[in-house]
This record gives sequence, structure tokens and C-alpha cells, in this order.
Amino acid sequence: MKTEHIKITDIVAQEKDLCRAAAILRSGGLVVFPTETVYGLGGNATRDEAAKKIYAAKGRPSDNPLIIHIADPTDAEQYAVTNALYYRLAKAFMPGPLTVILPRKNTIPKSTTGGLDSVAVRCPSHPVAHRLIELCGVAIAAPSANLSGKPSPTSAAHVAQDMDGRVDMILDGGESEIGLESTIVKIEGDGLILLRPGGITRDALSLLCDKVTVADAVLHQLAENERPLSPGMKYRHYAPTAPLVLLSGNEADVLRYLQTEAASRKCAILCYDEECEALASGILFPVGKKDDLAKQAHRLFAALREADGTDAEIIYAHLPPQDGLGLALYNRLIRAAAHTVKEV
Ligand code: AMP
Ligand code: MG
Repeated sequence: MKTEHIKITDIVAQEKDLCRAAAILRSGGLVVFPTETVYGLGGNATRDEAAKKIYAAKGRPSDNPLIIHIADPTDAEQYAVTNALYYRLAKAFMPGPLTVILPRKNTIPKSTTGGLDSVAVRCPSHPVAHRLIELCGVAIAAPSANLSGKPSPTSAAHVAQDMDGRVDMILDGGESEIGLESTIVKIEGDGLILLRPGGITRDALSLLCDKVTVADAVLHQLAENERPLSPGMKYRHYAPTAPLVLLSGNEADVLRYLQTEAASRKCAILCYDEECEALASGILFPVGKKDDLAKQAHRLFAALREADGTDAEIIYAHLPPQDGLGLALYNRLIRAAAHTVKEV
């Protein structure tokens, strides 16, 4: 299929383009759109065939459920069974990078939820995403707009690498601000289970709810026969072609190790900005200053794609901390590295 590429710089002046995108979605087509987390591969969440098309375009296993995107938190009523805790979360974090798992209503077909009786709901804050959903008048099911196994796209150029010819339209809204996928929580009684860390941190959730537990799959590799609470967690994600190794240890030791490695073989290194000079013999992909986790989140997937585009034998990155936004970086990186961590 021929994919139409449209750059959106002004949602008011370009309302016509957004109307056309919304019409494609309503009639069962696929439109990639920007959000504040990563780009989404959108289809009509209420139509069976749209979900099937999304899975086909991504090459994604159809038991991995899709997140539905709504324009206003109260729109969840049409698709899910809400509760008081949902509205407390919505008041604090929506629109924004939070996805909440709720019991599904029949307006959402099981093909959208990978056969589950629950549905993941999110209300994005990106103005293009927001206006598109509004014009569509129906929830948009959207996973990240990458081929299954590739890093999530944080720019329209990444999207085009993976999705050109596979979707009807790509809306280019510039670089994704956050750069990591949404935080996912499941409401259980009066508590929350953190299924995927993201831009809304565990600490931020804890201010609102005193029972927040982190699902096992966030930090640890699941055993073969273990069933994750979030089906996506069982798949190896974001895997670069060259092996990715995460380095842990004190700063000076890690830097020395990287210098030795870079002098002896072709290494791609996702380094801190401060390290560029000392590591000049490596193929460097600076991700931001050591303490700037927001910048590192913004850069991570682009840096992984860039590193993957080199002929490096091995890719190195620092093992992130597990607190604040670090937990989301940690979760994405350990999965991309298939849990390969080297203590130096
Ligand atoms: P992506 O669409 O690429 O951001 O991935 C969506 C993630 O949300 C996957 O890891 C899914 O497993 C998870 N997810 C979506 N719907 C549900 C649900 N109903 N229950 C649990 N996890 C879900
Ligand atoms: Mg994804």
C-alpha cells in the first residue's frame, strides 16, 4: 500500500488533514500518530478487523493486547468499568503518560485486548493525538508504531523505517517528548500493580495510593512457564542486532573498562555526555548528562536504533538506577540486553 506522509505543525490550520486521518481510522484503516511517549500505530479500537490489521503491520503476536486511546478520561465509561481509584489517577495524571487496566465492556472486541476481559486505557496529552481522537469520535487502539522487536519510534523518520508501505498514513509531529512508553498500572481492589514503569514514576503513584506493588516482570526475567500480568512482558523487546551489554560498577571502573574495550574492538557506546572526550575511540551515542534521566529517556530508543545501524560488534550502555525515571530506563534496557549485565 502507498503510505501518505503528512507533517503537522499547526493543528488548527491543518484541521482538514486531521479530519482525513480520522476518517481513515473510522473506516478501519491505519494511521500512525505522534504522542508524548512514543509514536502510536492507530486503528479503530471498536473494530475487529482494525486490530487484526495492526497486528499484521507490526508483525506482533495477537495475544499481546493493545492500549486504547481516548480524548477525555470520562470517555473510558464507553469501553471499560471504571471506579473511584481510576478517577483519582485520571485527575492527577491524565492527559499524560499513564495507562490504566480496567475490566472491558463489550464495545471493545477481544481481538483488541488479545483475548483478555480487561482493557488498557490511556488519554494522551500530545495535541495532535488529542485532536485526532476527538475528531475520530471513537477510541483508537494503538501499540508503539515499530515492527515487533525493534525499538519504539520516537520520530517520524523511525516510523518510516518500519512502517512505510504498511499503513495508510503517517502523521509527523516531531520528536516524542518523553521517549519511553506509558506507565501501565492495573487496579486491584484499593491497590495498584505497576506493570510497566514509564514517565509517571512509582513515587508519583505512591503519593496517590499507598498500596503500589511492582510486578515481577518489571525487574526480573520470567521463568519459561511463568505467566506475566501484562502479556507484552514475556516478549523480548527492542532487541538490537549486535549484543547489548549493560555495565554496572563505580563510575571510574566502568569508564576504564569502556576505554580498554573501545581500543581493542568496534564498540558502540551509549555514553553520558561527560564521557565523550575520554571515550573518543568508541562509536559514541551520547544520551545526556549522567544525572539527566529525562534526557536519557528521550534519547534511549533513538540511540539504540543509531547504534544498531553501525557495524559495531557489541553495544555497551550503563545500567540505570532503579528509582524515579531510572526504573523505566532500567526496565527497557535490561529487556533490550536480554538481562546481560556485566559487573566491572
Ligand atoms: P505497546 O502497545 O507496545 O505500548 O504495549 C502495550 C503493553 O500494554 C503490552 O506490554 C501489553 O501487554 C500491555 N497491555 C495492554 N492491555 C493490557 C491488559 N488488558 N492487561 C495487561 N496488560 C495489557
Ligand atoms: Mg511496543
